[in-house]
Amino acid sequence: MPQSMYMRVYPDAVLRQKAKRVAADRFEEQLAGLASLMTRMMYEEKGVGLAAPQVGVSLRLIVVDPSQERDSPLVLVNPRVVDAKGRDVDEEGCLSVPGVRAKVRRRDRVTVEYETVTGERQGVDADGLLARIFQHEIDHLDGTLFIDRLGPAGKLTVRHAVRELEKRGRGR
Ligand code: ZN
Repeated sequence: MPQSMYMRVYPDAVLRQKAKRVAADRFEEQLAGLASLMTRMMYEEKGVGLAAPQVGVSLRLIVVDPSQERDSPLVLVNPRVVDAKGRDVDEEGCLSVPGVRAKVRRRDRVTVEYETVTGERQGVDADGLLARIFQHEIDHLDGTLFIDRLGPAGKLTVRHAVRELEKRGRGR
């Protein structure tokens, strides 16, 4: 694994950057390699999704796998939500915000368009957990974390844990 690829933790600056679109000429072996490293890291950390900025790579690429069996990874390049319906509130956590969990309001159903690692255009409809993961991971590509989406009460609940992470971040 390249030395710079490790799990980035809040308040690491890369998590706040708007990630770059993957250009057409970048659809090559390199991209598949990045996706497979990220997939391995997602499984090792027992996550259901991972965005490239979380491993220090500011590119619009996410991997997700909501399956119990952990055998159905999906890689989405340049993903974007093109349609959304309904509302749903459920608890979320994030590998980049360890020790923090909170209820987040999301859209209940989404349609996501993306490209595969070989540059093929695809679309997928999702609801429930998968829809939530897509929204959480695509947020990462815009520098947004789930703790940003909490209301005043939710922010108060996580305030202490978030401050602890900030203190540790300054110590690094
Ligand atoms: Zn996350």
